[in-house]
Amino acid sequence: MASNRIVSTWRTYRSVGIVYRIGIAFVLGSLLGLAVGETATVLQPIGDLFVRLLTMLIVPIVVFTLLMGVRQLTPSTLGKLGGQVVALYAVTSAVAVAVGLAVSNAIQPGSRGLESLLAEAEPQSAEAPSATEVVLNIVPTNPLGAMAEGSVLPTIFFVVVFGLALALVQEETDDPAISSGIETFFDLAEAGAEAMFKVVWGVMEFGVLGVFALMASVFGAAGVDAIVPFALLIVTMLVAAVVHIGVVYLGGFVVGILGQSPFSFLSGAREAMVTALSIRSSSGTLPVTMSDADENLGVAERVYGFTLPLGATINMDGTAMYQGVAAIFAANVVGVNLTLADQFAVVSVAVLASIGTAGVPGSGLIMLTLVLTQLGLPLEIVGVVAGVDPILDRIRTMVNVTGDLAVTTAVAKWNGAVDFTTGVWSDGVRSSL
Ligand code: ASP
Repeated sequence: MASNRIVSTWRTYRSVGIVYRIGIAFVLGSLLGLAVGETATVLQPIGDLFVRLLTMLIVPIVVFTLLMGVRQLTPSTLGKLGGQVVALYAVTSAVAVAVGLAVSNAIQPGSRGLESLLAEAEPQSAEAPSATEVVLNIVPTNPLGAMAEGSVLPTIFFVVVFGLALALVQEETDDPAISSGIETFFDLAEAGAEAMFKVVWGVMEFGVLGVFALMASVFGAAGVDAIVPFALLIVTMLVAAVVHIGVVYLGGFVVGILGQSPFSFLSGAREAMVTALSIRSSSGTLPVTMSDADENLGVAERVYGFTLPLGATINMDGTAMYQGVAAIFAANVVGVNLTLADQFAVVSVAVLASIGTAGVPGSGLIMLTLVLTQLGLPLEIVGVVAGVDPILDRIRTMVNVTGDLAVTTAVAKWNGAVDFTTGVWSDGVRSSL
């Protein structure tokens, strides 16, 4: 019967892992876009819907999981964890810029055939926030306002302060009503987080369609002709990303610190990586990144609930790396030679720029103006590379979220907060998908 056939087709479809289905959708969507051109952009709203659904989950998932995490933390362990994670985030970002510079010095993107492009470029630029502004903005003037606007850093700040206060009151109070009220509060957060993770998987199911639509409209609008002159830039970024992920995350963190197989880690992180590649936003990917840390990588909530929202906001290795790659590209386009001192300056500016970059599509491109200004290179370059940014941004964002997960897992190991007997670590096979 027809209905039986539908049911069995659906079952077969569901039996293929979600990541593979999204991967296939990615390829088919791109091909459709290339084949039919501009018309494919009618699918854009379906892609936008997927991104909206993920974005909808960010604030609730951050609040619930942070509250649960803080329940198990004392102020001193939070301080220790915070110190370790911020240090690792900063060091890996600096290394990423160095990798970007080294690979670009070897490949030299932009040195051929792009001279005419400068004339057509439209400049756009960003104002660099001052260090004082960056620090002050972490503290919300209105916590609910910060949540309502989806500002992650001020939300983290408030929830951590509130959660620690709840834990302290719980410790000191003699009033059973207050004590049980706090218990209930934390239990609610736990239930809320579980429910949000359920929604994440529903959204990922829809993501198969969403990613197909997103890719069809990207390639429908850009077309292959727009990409060809920039192929070397894209290749440089890809090589740098592979080197950084391979050497720093897999070699250094997974093998060196965790003593585990790189394949297990990649298998555990793949939903987040594929989502980042599809939607170009580390903040948007955060619900998926958290769910990977929880279900696949066996990281305790008290660690990832704090480190991942922080990482999605301040740790952008891919973005930092891109600043290095783009600096060399820009210098080559205008025929300038960057000295070693210039390249050192790029490392510090790029790390700061990447910390200040919001985890949303395209923000790394705007931050490029800071690096170009520092080097005295024309800001028009931003307009030149904007055409292929939808591709470069995917690579950056994928590196960004992989870095968050690698650092989180390493810090979790140092704090006895990763369970190597579950998820991908035990046998490399997962039950959750
Ligand atoms: N799209 C990137 C992210 O969300 C930021 C960037 O444009 O580099 O991580």
